Amino acid sequence: MTTQNTFIHSLGFILPRFLREDYSPYQCHVAVNGINYNLRTRRIHLQNQIKTWINTGKNPFLKPVECKTCLFDTRIPNIYIGADGICNMCMTYKKNFKQEILDSELETFLNTPREEGAKVDAVVGFSGGKDSAVSLITARQKLGLEVTAVLVQNGFIPEQVIENGRKLCDKLGVELVVLNIDLAPYVKDMMEHKFKNGYPCYKCGDMFYKEIQNYCIEHHINRIIMGRNWWHWIEPEVRSTKWLTDEKTGMKLQIFSLPFVLQLTEKDIYRILDEVGWSTVKIHGNSTNCVLPGLVEYMVSKRLGYHPELQLLSREVITGFLDKEEAKHQLSDIKDNTATLEKLVNKKLEEIENRKVNK
Ligand SMILES: [Zn+2]
Repeated sequence: MTTQNTFIHSLGFILPRFLREDYSPYQCHVAVNGINYNLRTRRIHLQNQIKTWINTGKNPFLKPVECKTCLFDTRIPNIYIGADGICNMCMTYKKNFKQEILDSELETFLNTPREEGAKVDAVVGFSGGKDSAVSLITARQKLGLEVTAVLVQNGFIPEQVIENGRKLCDKLGVELVVLNIDLAPYVKDMMEHKFKNGYPCYKCGDMFYKEIQNYCIEHHINRIIMGRNWWHWIEPEVRSTKWLTDEKTGMKLQIFSLPFVLQLTEKDIYRILDEVGWSTVKIHGNSTNCVLPGLVEYMVSKRLGYHPELQLLSREVITGFLDKEEAKHQLSDIKDNTATLEKLVNKKLEEIENRKVNK
C-alpha cells in the first residue's frame, strides 16, 4: 500500500464511501458509450476522476489517465485507476478469475443432456466473422458436437459474408439457418439522436439473443455457443456462461462463450482458420462480418472523444485475447462513412416498407 493510500485509509471515517472502497465498473450502474450521460452519470464520472487523481497523483482533468494493462482510461465514466496504475475493470477481473471455474463450466456444458426432441446438441451463434467461425470449427472437430449454425441477419451483414459462411458450414457438414431481424429503424432513430440514446451493436445484441433463444426453444435445443472472447459475468467470480429459463416451457438454456473458456487468443483464432483453409471477408472497422461498426465509428467517436469499440477491445485485452498495442492499432483507423451510413439505412428502410406493401 502506498503512503497516499495509507493516508486515505487513516482518514477513512470522514471520507465519502467512493474514496474509501474499491468497486467494479459494473457497480457504478452507468451505460457505456455515452448513452444517457445524465446528471447521475456525470456525478459518478466526476467521483471516479477524483478517486483516480488521489490514487495516482495524476490529474485526469488535464489529461486522461490510462490503465497500465488495458485501454480503459478516465474518459470512461465508470472507470477509475488505482494506486498501482491498474483500472477497476482489470482489478476486478484479476481478483475474480479462476481457470477451474471456466473448466467446470465447460464440463457442465458438455455433460448437459439434450432435451427430448432436439436433433442437435447445440446451436452456434454464427455471424460469419472469425470468432464464431472458430467456435463452430472447435465445437464440431474438437468437441465432437452435433450443431446447427444460426446466423441472424440484421440487414447489415453483406450477402458475400453469408455465402462465405455457408462454405465453411458445408465444409464442416453443418446446417446453416439464417434468421432475419430489422435493425435499420433503430439505427435511424439513433442517428437522429446522434447515438446519445443507443449504440447499434448493443441493440443488435439484444435482438440477436431473443431471436436465437426463440429458435432454440422451438427446436428443443438447450445450449448456445457464442464466439465471445470475454466474460459473461465478472462478479462475484469470472464466468463464461449465462443461464436462462424460458418462462413458457421451463427449459433451461446455457449461453456459452467458447473461445473465452478455452482461453484462445487472436493468434489461435487465425491459426485455426488457416488450418481449415477458410478466411473472413474483409470489412472496414472492428468487425469481420457486419458493416455497421465501421459506418458509425466516426460519428460516435467524434462525440465521445474515443473509439466506441474501445469498450469491447479493452475487455479482449484484459482477458489476454488481444495485446494492447494491437488493440490500439485496430482503433486508430477511423473513417468518416456517415454518407454511406445514411444511404444504406434509408435503403434498408425502403426495403422494409416494400416488404410490408407486398404482404
Ligand atoms: Zn485496465
